[in-house]
Amino acid sequence: MSITGSMNIWKTFPKGGLTPLPMKTRLKDRALWNASIPPLSIVPLLQHKGYPATCLVHPRETVREGMLIGRADSFSGAHVHSPVPGTVKYIEDITLPWGDKTPAVFIELGGEFSRLGKTVYTHPWDGLRADRLLSILADKGLVGMGSGIPVHRKLTIPEGRTVKTLIINGIECEPYLCSDYRIMVEKPEELISGARIAAAITHPGRTIIALSSDGKDAIGALRKKIKELKADIEVRSLWPKYPQGDEKQLIKVLCGEEISPRGTALDTGTVVLNAGTTLSIYEAVVLQKPLVEKTITVAGRALRKQANLKVRIGTPLSDLVEECGGFVQMPAKIVVGGPMTGWGVSELSAPITKTTAGVLFLSAKEVHDSRKTNCLNCGRCLRSCPMGLQPSALYKWVEHSAYEEARSEGLLDCCECGCCAYTCPAQLPLLREIRAGKMILHSGENV
Ligand code: SF4
Ligand code: SF4
Repeated sequence: MSITGSMNIWKTFPKGGLTPLPMKTRLKDRALWNASIPPLSIVPLLQHKGYPATCLVHPRETVREGMLIGRADSFSGAHVHSPVPGTVKYIEDITLPWGDKTPAVFIELGGEFSRLGKTVYTHPWDGLRADRLLSILADKGLVGMGSGIPVHRKLTIPEGRTVKTLIINGIECEPYLCSDYRIMVEKPEELISGARIAAAITHPGRTIIALSSDGKDAIGALRKKIKELKADIEVRSLWPKYPQGDEKQLIKVLCGEEISPRGTALDTGTVVLNAGTTLSIYEAVVLQKPLVEKTITVAGRALRKQANLKVRIGTPLSDLVEECGGFVQMPAKIVVGGPMTGWGVSELSAPITKTTAGVLFLSAKEVHDSRKTNCLNCGRCLRSCPMGLQPSALYKWVEHSAYEEARSEGLLDCCECGCCAYTCPAQLPLLREIRAGKMILHSGENV
């Protein structure tokens, strides 16, 4: 593999990774549909990396669709809006799938929608300054749907820095997940507008939409629309390999640059936004719509039907099960997110948040259920690691609370792709322990 000037011919990242399982072959052809509005929405005041928004409503208060109900108190925060019209029933602490605790506003549906079913007006944005566009994104509560970083923060480029490449990440390499693919097939014009708005803020040298080479319909739809609109955007298709959609791998492949362990994408002159986030930028600026709904994949063989859905933030998982025709068998495991990096949950009351990419209701056959044994020293985890780490060694250090040793072995370089855990024949919870070790190191640094 090599790079020739700006004509980068790498088709995938060089080290480790996995050939993806064919879990989405038929699912990705299922068009997006609007899920039913939940009778009770559970809206967490923390849905991103950071601190919860300050609650602005009280029990028994009437709220409108899109009304601000949680105010971000810092630049790193994200506003929260009501996804539905209704009445606040109560405000209670909940635990999010990844373990954070947050107050959540429980809203009983009622009253008239302000947007749903109404005429949609578009708002021209050409000529708006970058700071005005950024303040719209902050007002609408946008959060990176992959990274969980508030979008206004991600797109604020510090003085003295320049953006060489803006990457719209449509790779979506986890098995099952394909709602970003549906956005690219069904809404190429909106996606391109979102990319142009992001480019108007960050002034990149070039803008690339990256997607998997097996996504023929999306590649065709985007190329056609880019030509029609004469947009200055390249479409780059990469080999389907996991974790191709990881920011570090993507930058390595498309820009030939490595992010240093403590560095960020911007250190390499790159900004990466995922396809769902880019659509939300369009909706915030052109439709003046707060982030109150998103596209997700709901899959797994425990369900009667699998689907790509547009759902309101705050929809409980139980409503998704109903939307998909109920269970044909009890799920052996429920996962929020993808099967490689998602979070197992046990409660069907858990709500959809701004960063939920999908929900999986897996049958026993879809779940590895063999028993955990001792490490076999087989080296599979090492060979699969795209970051060139020794996952078995990291696991051992963290298990023995030797965090500084784990740090010097590169613990903080781990991109949490889960390849090691997936390939481990001993069924060791490598990803779980590595994540726990990273959290401990980060919390120590934040003291
Ligand atoms: S150690 Fe981290 S980066 Fe390497 S395979 Fe495991 S989860 Fe992925
Ligand atoms: S894959 Fe599992 S069993 Fe094999 S070396 Fe890694 S941790 Fe040990």
